[in-house]
This record gives sequence, C-alpha cells and structure tokens, in this order.
Amino acid sequence: MIACHCRICRSTDPRDKRLRVSALIENGKDNILIDTSADFRQQMLSQQVTHLEAILYTHKHYDHIAGFDDLRAFQFLNKKSPLCYATLETTDYIRKTFDYAFGAAIQSGGGLPKIPFRVIDEKPFKACGLEVIPIPLMHGLMPILGFRIGGFAYLTDCSAIPEASFPLLEGLDTLILDGLRFKPHSTHFTIEEAIANAERIAPRVTYLTHMNHDVLHEETELALPAHVRLGFDGLSFELEGICQ
Ligand SMILES: [Zn+2]
Ligand SMILES: [Zn+2]
Ligand SMILES: [Zn+2]
Repeated sequence: MIACHCRICRSTDPRDKRLRVSALIENGKDNILIDTSADFRQQMLSQQVTHLEAILYTHKHYDHIAGFDDLRAFQFLNKKSPLCYATLETTDYIRKTFDYAFGAAIQSGGGLPKIPFRVIDEKPFKACGLEVIPIPLMHGLMPILGFRIGGFAYLTDCSAIPEASFPLLEGLDTLILDGLRFKPHSTHFTIEEAIANAERIAPRVTYLTHMNHDVLHEETELALPAHVRLGFDGLSFELEGICQ
C-alpha cells in the first residue's frame, strides 16, 4: 500500500508483493484474460504475454478496468484486438471512462485503442470456443459477475454469493475466491467468510485472492485448511479437461 510501512508492506517475501487482481487462461493458441487490472501493463510484461484473444470483465471498478488503454499494444503488434465481454453497465462505464477511444474524441488516430465489445448478461456464452458461465455475485450492493469455465471458477470482489449461484458452482476443481482481510468489510469476504464459502462449494482446491496488507502470506497460509491456499502473483496451475 502506498506510503505504508507496516510489516506486510515491508515483507521481503515476494508473495507479499501484490499487484491488482487478474487471471490469464491459456487454452491452446488462445489467451483469455479476466479483467484489465490497474497493473495490467506490468503483468503483461512480467508474464511475457504476447497476444490476447478475449477479455472477460467482472465489474467496473478502477482496479479491474484501468489497464484498458494498454490493450492497444496488442492491436499495434498483432494487428487485431481482443474481444471484450462485459455487462451493459460495465461496457457503458468503460466507454465513458475512456471516451477518447470510442469516437467521442475530437482527434482520432494517434494510437487510440480500438477495442470491440460484446455485451453479456447472466446467460452462458462462448469465448474462444470455451463455454463461459457467468456467476452472479454481490459486491456490497452491486451485482457483479464471476466466471466459470469447465472445472475452474473465478469469483473476485464479492461479499455474498446469491443462493441461485451455488448450483452453478457444483463439481468444481479449482476455485479462486475473494478473501480481503480478517476484519469485516462491506464489499468483500473476509478470510473466514471465504473459507466458509469454499467449504460449502467444496472444490478440490481454493485459492484466495484480493488480499490486502493485513494478510502476511506465510503466516496466514499456515492457519488455513489444507484445501484453501492463498494466491500470489505469478501463481499458475494446469486445468485438466477445460477444453470443450
Ligand atoms: Zn501496509
Ligand atoms: Zn470491486
Ligand atoms: Zn477489486
């Protein structure tokens, strides 16, 4: 955290150095990214990502969309832009925030991002040939989306999972779940709430994400149940049978 000198911010464990949350799904020749985080550029460089075919947006908050402008690097390099999938609310907000990239600017050209959008709702859709199931979540009072692809689900930024969403999460292998900190928060699960939800959903493994600087990686992970781990920047794993 900017200007903080707490023991987590001073930690030398690389797992305590957290950029804003995001996930990349590599499926054969296609790369699908969940959210263009405020640290998108740094993440693409450090993970040496050379192409993106699709972006799935969970919601419109700054930490999840603000790398949007840097998508133009792929358009210059690869002569094609990834297709963005977002709800109408998120699409409208990105269009408003980056109005210069959507025809509202006086000057055109000069390296503006030209990124196509496909508006989604709560119905399953296909991205790069994979079936994506939107998972309705509550982020405080704001309805947002998580996503399930095969045995993998990504549920960030949530303080409640609606009852109707639980059946969509049956038979999961790997779950990524919001677990902000230990103290209650109005728009995010605490670590304890995340564990309780992970136990109800019962995937093979759960990785918590979106932790803040109250959470020292090594110390916190020691106290977690064996099937719940803390995510960290650069964590990667194989997903069996994700292709459909
Ligand atoms: Zn701190
Ligand atoms: Zn948020
Ligand atoms: Zn967030």
